[in-house]
Amino acid sequence: MKILYAASEVAPFAKTGGLADVAGALPAALARLGHDVRIVMPLYKQIDRARFGLKMLTPEMYVAFPESAQIGCVMTAPFPGSSLPVYFIGHDEYFDRPGLYQEDALDYPDNAERFAYFCKAALWSLVGLGWKPDVICCNDWQTALIPTFLRQGPEYAGRFEFDGIKTLFTIHNLAYQGAFDASYVWKLGLPGHVFSADGLEFYGRMNLMKAGIVYSDKISTVSRRYAEEIQTEEFGCGLEGILQARRADLTGILNGIDPKDWSPDVDGLIPAKYSVGGREGKAKCKAALQKLCGLPAQEDIPLIGVISRLADQKGFDLIAEVADTLMRMKLQFVLLGTGEKKYHELFEALGKKNKKRASIHLRFDNKLAHWIEAGADMFLMPSRYEPCGLNQLYSLRYGTVPIVRRTGGLADSIMDYDAKNKTGTGFVFEDYTGEAMLDAIQRAVKCYRKSPKAWAMLVETGMQQDFTWNASAKAYGQLLQSMIGR
Ligand code: ADP
Repeated sequence: MKILYAASEVAPFAKTGGLADVAGALPAALARLGHDVRIVMPLYKQIDRARFGLKMLTPEMYVAFPESAQIGCVMTAPFPGSSLPVYFIGHDEYFDRPGLYQEDALDYPDNAERFAYFCKAALWSLVGLGWKPDVICCNDWQTALIPTFLRQGPEYAGRFEFDGIKTLFTIHNLAYQGAFDASYVWKLGLPGHVFSADGLEFYGRMNLMKAGIVYSDKISTVSRRYAEEIQTEEFGCGLEGILQARRADLTGILNGIDPKDWSPDVDGLIPAKYSVGGREGKAKCKAALQKLCGLPAQEDIPLIGVISRLADQKGFDLIAEVADTLMRMKLQFVLLGTGEKKYHELFEALGKKNKKRASIHLRFDNKLAHWIEAGADMFLMPSRYEPCGLNQLYSLRYGTVPIVRRTGGLADSIMDYDAKNKTGTGFVFEDYTGEAMLDAIQRAVKCYRKSPKAWAMLVETGMQQDFTWNASAKAYGQLLQSMIGR
């Protein structure tokens, strides 16, 4: 099967969140199953051309954008450690900027145009390459215009270069919808009839998430539970009706993790390696993390880690609600994250007030993320909603027991500790309240302190879970194959 994987961020080239991790792992996992997979992404300023060995493929590519022909380029490099080709769509005016989507927490005002250009250029680059995929995997609103142009764009319909190409649209987070002024429909060269209730119109605006849902052959999202949740009013962000209407074409496949990057036995970034059978290294990682964070070097005090975008979605209002109680408990707290100003202020104040208990790092720092996964005893993820979540999966692998809310991918991947039967992989709470979260933290701390055997069981069972891409890539492979009728 020939698969084009289109994404707006792909690790290690450019990353702001979990999508990049998925896009940096799933294509290679599909290639390992024997498929011809290629990746296409924008050529952002921050992509290190020399480090990744980018070569010019098409120095001048003309793309007809309705008002004028735009000239861009296509560069290419093999995906690191493989021969899988990556195509980078270049256009300095759109992509030679400091951010991927925004600067100083403000979205670029021309994002609709930037990503529409990316989608168009990605399609036309195929013509230049003479390579026609059977299916294009699109991810989130930034790539939603690929299925839209293929189905509705006047220059595409009926052309043999595009004819018969199937599209899968994967929703990584329904809340980020890419809603733009209605006038873009015409600016981007789409026919007026798409701006309707059964097209991409949503409350008078052009909604690209909706476009992806409406115009793709199949839709997937990143956990089974989230696939169900988004069909409800609580989680559907207004799109629940359209998702219900397409429920027969909607599947949930849990993301995997890449053990090359995230596994304590091979992780070159952490202070000491370890495995389920020999965990001395984990104690060293904890000591090193405490030292780095200026926290008392005590082995028996439970250390809770958090690595996250500081956004409402992630449940930080719950942490704010019980912060004082939390800081009175005998535990240590290390947080790494960036995001909303109100949370920066909250955690900055918390760190200043509790120097011996809390260590706050308000930046993006991949190495520190690895240190926290390896050095913490517990990982807190109290999300309001969580399409899949990767950090709880990394935590399992690092023997760092997750404390999570029962939603989306967290519900699908973490089993609550059952003290009677001595089963489980973490601590799960149901209600979205500070009290319920605190109760789960207290249960975890009590187990850590009072029941070392049960704690070891939790750590070992977690480390033995297989959430690598193998199973998920197979599921994607089967889904894609069913779409092209093979
Ligand atoms: P989301 O995609 O919603 O942000 P995920 O849990 O799916 O959440 O993925 C987040 C990814 O981004 C993880 O790989 C996590 O380690 C990383 N990450 C988030 N914030 C930071 C940060 N401040 N520094 C380093 N890595 C981070």
